[in-house]
Amino acid sequence: MRIAERVRTLPPYLFAAIERQIAERKAAGIDVISLGIGDPDLPTPPHVIEALAAGAADPATHQYPSNQGESGFREAVAGFYATRFGVTLDPADQIVPLLGAKEGIAHICQVLLDPGDLALAADPGYPVYVTGPRLADGEAAYLPLLPELGFQPDLEAIPSETLERARMIFVSYPNNPTGAVIEDDFFARLVAFARTNDLVVVHDNAYADITYDGYVAPSFLATPGASEVGVELFSLSKSYNMTGWRAGAIVGNPELVDAYWRLKTNLDSGMFGAVQRAAAAALSGSQECVREMCRVYQHRRDLLVNALRTVGMHVEPPKGTIYLWVPVPEGYTSAGFTQQVLEQADVVVTPGAAYGPSGEGYVRLSLTVPDDLLEEAVRRIEERVRL
Ligand SMILES: *Cc1c(COP(=O)(O)O)cnc(C)c1O
Repeated sequence: MRIAERVRTLPPYLFAAIERQIAERKAAGIDVISLGIGDPDLPTPPHVIEALAAGAADPATHQYPSNQGESGFREAVAGFYATRFGVTLDPADQIVPLLGAKEGIAHICQVLLDPGDLALAADPGYPVYVTGPRLADGEAAYLPLLPELGFQPDLEAIPSETLERARMIFVSYPNNPTGAVIEDDFFARLVAFARTNDLVVVHDNAYADITYDGYVAPSFLATPGASEVGVELFSLSKSYNMTGWRAGAIVGNPELVDAYWRLKTNLDSGMFGAVQRAAAAALSGSQECVREMCRVYQHRRDLLVNALRTVGMHVEPPKGTIYLWVPVPEGYTSAGFTQQVLEQADVVVTPGAAYGPSGEGYVRLSLTVPDDLLEEAVRRIEERVRL
């Protein structure tokens, strides 16, 4: 059997090596605490589950949904964007449901890339910014996020040969893995840059509401001119602890949203109607559950920051996301440091290099483990890690 090259050449799953090591230690009777994977540990809010249950009991949801989404879903997304971001979206032609932002990241490449075209992929970044373009028979060029620029890219430094072939650019703030947020006019500069260079901006907005210390993250689409040059991939996964539900939306430029919808009619048959109703309930209901969850993460963030400082590491508490992005001590690689923390403390962190070449020199720690386990991880780091 011959597997096609586009699949044969996919890089190995990011966590495969780490998962093997965890399994080996567990088999040896060692209990390992994983701060490796960013998947919310808290349950989905009850009112969202109730809306799903009611939707599932309604035979109207049992038939094929449409790829365009129920009007109730699209209106809820538009209402949320208006109140939360001050962004006006027309539910008729600026919103299509996604089976999660990941689906959008992968498939938008098929809408925008012809063979040989490039996507600029934030580095470090979500791995599908690189594999998505390849699966669309395009290519990805790394766009380094620079710590001295607050983990924003230097748009002026992109080589002109790269820019000539580039059709799209993937960015995401609040940013996974660095935890960086936008605090200057980067989005405005990005809109101007996209116009000048005929690029489509794809803003991955997976962490809009996971923020701390009073910081409120904007939508890319709130930038003047943004919906002329791009789209936003919005996800309910992290804000409402719904990673298992596969719920999001592509919003913004009507021509792109329409092209995306036409592609989608050939890929899947839409989002289960009951999930659409549950997503609408999450977006239109009280947002207190989101604020409460941010308080939980912020407490965990502070515990972990203190523990890392206690053992001599330099770490700044992030204003957003569920991650700490920590420079490894002098003389270590990110993989070497990951190995040492596993051996000394039985705690799993992720090597930064797994998110792209600019991630070398960092490790990522996730805040998505229950408080008691996180406290135990903190104890182990403080007592056992010796640099
Ligand atoms: C979690 C995550 C996603 C995936 O979101 P889904 O809606 O669950 O597919 C996308 N982008 C980034 C940066 C993420 O961290």
